[in-house]
Amino acid sequence: MPSIFSRIVSGEIPCHRIAEDEHHLAFLDINPLARGHTLVIPKDETDYIFDIDDERLSALMLFAKMVGLGIERAIPCKRIGITVIGLEVPHAHIHLIPINSISDMEFSRPKLTLSHEELANIADQIRSELKG
Ligand code: 5GP
Repeated sequence: MPSIFSRIVSGEIPCHRIAEDEHHLAFLDINPLARGHTLVIPKDETDYIFDIDDERLSALMLFAKMVGLGIERAIPCKRIGITVIGLEVPHAHIHLIPINSISDMEFSRPKLTLSHEELANIADQIRSELKG
């Protein structure tokens, strides 16, 4: 059975898309730790990120870097925190989180509840920073 992220890739489940190429997709986390919290995934489903071969892992990181720099321009923050957990969804993904302090990376904190419109606006802001 395809992962929930593969179902997002196929369009079966909607998401707030940030960026996409042939092999990668970036979209907003539905339960963000911060405004702009984004997930970057390879379109091909692999559970554990270290099972991805070196070439594809490097490409995934470079795609995440491009997206992260766009988030940084769109969302005021000190920098973009990067983490990989993968305990909930068995499809490798990189969390990109705008942070101002170490506690902003605390995954046990309550998540933000943002409306569809708020998420759509954030996605718009980030996408426009990636255009130029
Ligand atoms: P992890 O697997 O890294 O522990 O956490 C999975 C992340 O995916 C969580 O931050 C969760 O909010 C996010 N997530 C889970 N299901 C969905 C979904 O259907 N759509 C989106 N956009 N994010 C999801």
